[in-house]
This record gives sequence, C-alpha cells and structure tokens, in this order.
Amino acid sequence: MKVAIIRCMQTEDYCPGTIDFKAVREKSGAFSNTNEDIEIIGFVNCGGCPGKKAVLRAKESVKRGADTIAFASCIQKGTPMGYPCPFAKKMKEVIQKGLPKTIKILDYTH
Ligand code: SF4
Repeated sequence: MKVAIIRCMQTEDYCPGTIDFKAVREKSGAFSNTNEDIEIIGFVNCGGCPGKKAVLRAKESVKRGADTIAFASCIQKGTPMGYPCPFAKKMKEVIQKGLPKTIKILDYTH
C-alpha cells in the first residue's frame, strides 16, 4: 500500500501526527487489515477551511504513486480536540469524484 495522509490544518498545532505514523508502522487502526508493506508517500494538510485544496493535494499524491488516500482521524473523528471537520463529507465526496475508482479511501487512520 502506498498511502497519502491528509490531515486537518486547524489541528496541526495540537498534533504532529504521531499516532498516524504509529498506526502505519504497527498496522493498527485503519491499516490493520493489510498484509502488504505500507509506504507513506505524502503527509499533507487540507489547506485550511473549507478544505478545497485537499482535492488537488489528493490528486497530486496519486500522481506520485499513492494508491490509498487516508483522512487522518482529526478530520472525521475530530481527534484530539473532539472537533470533527464540518466539511469532511463534502471534501471526501469531491476528492473521490476526482480520483480513479481504484484509489482506496480510508475515513480515519487510528
Ligand atoms: S476544512 Fe476541515 S479538515 Fe480542513 S482545516 Fe477546516 S476543519 Fe480542518
């Protein structure tokens, strides 16, 4: 698996993404069902509200080899602040629409 992780820009000050990297390394959370090696090919933020830049960033990640786009848990689960992204649904919808059907989307990381 070659994964690009997209995180919430607003959450960056609260979290350096430690648990995302741990989940990939230990194949836990959203990565627990794979036996493949996992390579992180990108770790970017959404570009800030309302997340439109995430669309381009996901596309660029796929151009660079990502076969999976993972939304970090800060986006849909709202971790670690308990404040989920109000634009998450739309962001996912538009990203998915712009990518080949073969690209896997993960709704969270851990
Ligand atoms: S669009 Fe959502 S994920 Fe991006 S900064 Fe705003 S709240 Fe965070």
